[in-house]
Amino acid sequence: MKRISGEIRKKAKRIKLLLLDVDGVLTDGGIVMDNRGEEIKRFDVRDGHGIRMLMRARVQVGFITGRSSRVVTHRAKDLGIRIVYQKVYNKIEVYQKIKRRTGLQDQEIAYVGDDIVDLPILRKVGLAMTVRDCWTGLKPLVDYVTIREGGRGAVREIVELLLRAQGKWGEITQRYYGE
Ligand SMILES: [Mg+2]
Repeated sequence: MKRISGEIRKKAKRIKLLLLDVDGVLTDGGIVMDNRGEEIKRFDVRDGHGIRMLMRARVQVGFITGRSSRVVTHRAKDLGIRIVYQKVYNKIEVYQKIKRRTGLQDQEIAYVGDDIVDLPILRKVGLAMTVRDCWTGLKPLVDYVTIREGGRGAVREIVELLLRAQGKWGEITQRYYGE
């Protein structure tokens, strides 16, 4: 794991909600479309388990995506995620809506995006993050860039960063290590 600066740890400590862009963050950005126009996406199982661990640690998780597909609905349901916004044209408008719905402040929200459309939210949140293979213009503007790529463990890396910064890593992983 990358060395995490004190400043990032301080920001990560306050996070109560992790918002994730879908394409390019939870996936590698590729979309497979079948003959009926139905989308197929490839998710990372370890990202999924990371999301479950984070929710067990009482950090909420939400998806915001510009596209709309049934696979995202299924993936969110599979993971027990209730904050799901699809076909979002104006991400910042939805971000404000999520703030009202959850009653959280900017400092308590982290966001991960991979493209220029994610910039308005990244500039607002308490902890702004992107993935290694993002649109490179984001890199100088965020708090943290993952070592792993989108759809290839980037979200898991962020989950571990948050859990460790919040001092919850031990509590959440204890069941796997045993006595
Ligand atoms: Mg994206």
